[in-house]
Amino acid sequence: MNANASTVAPMTPRQRVLAALKREPVDRTPVCNPTSVATVELMDLVDAHFPNANRDPRKMALLAATGHTELGFDSVMPVFTIIQESSALGCKIQWEEKDNWPTVKMSEPIWSKPEDIRIPSDLLTHPDTKCVLDAIRLLRRELGDDVAIIGKTMGPWSLGYHTMGVEKFLLMSLDDPDQTKKCLDLMKQVTVDFGRAQIDAGADALTLPDHATGDLVSGDYYDRYLKEMHIEFVDEIPIPLILHICGRTVDRMDYIAQTGMAAFHFDSKNDPGESMGICSHRISLIGNVNNPETLYSKGPEDVEAEVRKNLDAGVQLVGPECAIPLQTSIENLKAIPRAVRDWHREHVSNN
Ligand SMILES: [Zn+2]
Repeated sequence: MNANASTVAPMTPRQRVLAALKREPVDRTPVCNPTSVATVELMDLVDAHFPNANRDPRKMALLAATGHTELGFDSVMPVFTIIQESSALGCKIQWEEKDNWPTVKMSEPIWSKPEDIRIPSDLLTHPDTKCVLDAIRLLRRELGDDVAIIGKTMGPWSLGYHTMGVEKFLLMSLDDPDQTKKCLDLMKQVTVDFGRAQIDAGADALTLPDHATGDLVSGDYYDRYLKEMHIEFVDEIPIPLILHICGRTVDRMDYIAQTGMAAFHFDSKNDPGESMGICSHRISLIGNVNNPETLYSKGPEDVEAEVRKNLDAGVQLVGPECAIPLQTSIENLKAIPRAVRDWHREHVSNN
């Protein structure tokens, strides 16, 4: 794949991302952010700060665009939070200030059993979901067809944490699998409807985080509760889907590779070579530069080393492993596209 990169005609960032999501030849490996690359430094640069940048479409679009214009990534991603649709469902949100992420007030769960679950009729017109749709429209108008626009729709497992509380939801999954499946089934519509609305607004691909995270649940859980549902999403949301699950996930990657999702956004707790071996070109991998240590507290040369490790393993798209810490330096983020370009230049000249 990478070996024939030099024979592929120059592509736009959008073409590059979409080709890599299909495992088709690319002119170089795309740098992609399926989750947020917003930082306080970038907020200051364009005067679009949290919490406004999570609630005002113009600020949201301004901040998202910096992923391409300032950092040089091939994609932009305006959905910095994981709580936009949870807010529309009625969860209480702590919106925080410019240096912190908004969170759901877990002490006040809104549902506890299937009978409680009601999808509000204003799911897509609520200010916090509409903000995302309007921001995608603005980005499409301003960036044209040049840059890949990635949206985000949360999976039902994550929505279960937000609406019922993490502990309660996990306890239910242990005690009562039928009830858990009923809840997941009822919440699926949120994922599908918000995803489809983002396609209509102009998104090229969607990140679908569903936090069956490595340290909370086993690979067996993924098979039991999530695999079939994720296969359904591939049928019902007609756009490349990028599944995002944090933590060590090699025990579920074989299942994930069977879903038909375009890509899996994988964590640095998984070795790129080992992960590529398991996925064996059934699904693209996006990853997996470490956030809390490398991007946040080390220097550009450490970032570069991790990028190269992914490229050497044949990982199809490169980027941070998850939403980056808000204090990450622009210098470290810019090291990602630079390292990709350097690696490809060396690779071509070595042929
Ligand atoms: Zn994550």
